[in-house]
Amino acid sequence: MVNSFISIRNLTKRYGGHLALDHISVDIAEGEFLALLGPSGCGKTTLLRSIAGFIDIEEGDVCIDGNSMKHLPANRRPVNTVFQNYALFPHLSVLDNVSYGPRRAGKNKSDACNIAMDSLETVGMGSFFDRFPNQLSGGQQQRVALARAIANKPKVLLLDEPLGALDLKLRKRMQMELKSLQQRLGMTFVFVTHDQEEALVMADRIAVMDAGKIVQIGNGEEIYNAPNARYVADFIGDANLLDCVVAADGSLINTAANIKFHAEHDLMENTQVTYLLRPEVIQISDIDAPLKNDMLALPALVERIMFVGNATRIYARSKGQELVAQYPSSGQKHFYQPGQEVSFRWSRANGQVLTR
Ligand code: ATP
Repeated sequence: MVNSFISIRNLTKRYGGHLALDHISVDIAEGEFLALLGPSGCGKTTLLRSIAGFIDIEEGDVCIDGNSMKHLPANRRPVNTVFQNYALFPHLSVLDNVSYGPRRAGKNKSDACNIAMDSLETVGMGSFFDRFPNQLSGGQQQRVALARAIANKPKVLLLDEPLGALDLKLRKRMQMELKSLQQRLGMTFVFVTHDQEEALVMADRIAVMDAGKIVQIGNGEEIYNAPNARYVADFIGDANLLDCVVAADGSLINTAANIKFHAEHDLMENTQVTYLLRPEVIQISDIDAPLKNDMLALPALVERIMFVGNATRIYARSKGQELVAQYPSSGQKHFYQPGQEVSFRWSRANGQVLTR
């Protein structure tokens, strides 16, 4: 149970007939880095903007540090938001952009400048104080936007895909920087992204959203290793998802590959389930190699082999069932070729039964 700093209860938002947030309840701890993850349109930004106060809360409530935000306008909430497009003032220098908030909060010019310089140093941009936004790279502008957001010392920083406009390499570097900045400041971060890797790299916990709901919340390992739904298993990482039905003797039948196998569950006959197999738990063997006791196997016809740098993926088909296996490129060398009949094998303990 999370010691709640931000407490969201029953939060609901409709746009006409469309339910953008569907009775969301979640607790976020002080100093936590929470990622809101999901595909386009699932409600991530709407949830973030409800916390920020840019959207009227029609049903439910958001409490921060014990205080209801329901009737508090955005500028009086103890939060600050960083957007994807930086939103720096183009006609102001870096220093003036960052000191703008403290000045508005009533600080005199000298204090505001000191606070701004501190914030700029924190994000490694102190020496750029007299530049204008159009004289900075995208990554530098994003650092200034961060400095501006932390200058006001908000209790909570809300980040709406702040790295979305950066190229991959810079994005990866900024992910590490943001994470260490958050740890140094001990500030609570709520971060919107549709990039699962970004969420896994940075967040303490990830809330996976679908159609206005949080489907699962947990740390990266929990979400990856023990997804509570097919949707989550499919969204985080690569997955083999086999449609199965429970037979009278409790085993699972997958019609596409025409197999019947045993799996741990306590479900009724005829229940439709998804059997999850992560690609990295599959071993590929010669079709006639002896099968160990605790292993399950499917005959598979190799269709494609894809080298993706640190890993190699083998795409195959077992009758109507598509399958993918993956192993580290530096590990076992493969001698299998497209068109070859092989055996895809996995330990019973590595398959998971998902009921929704
Ligand atoms: P993205 O990753 O594309 O930004 P998202 O998960 O952040 O998506 P939201 O922006 O929260 O999604 O939108 C959730 C749903 O609400 C979408 O179906 C969207 O079309 C709808 N929506 C958002 N803002 C409005 C609005 N102002 N008027 C009407 N519908 C809206």
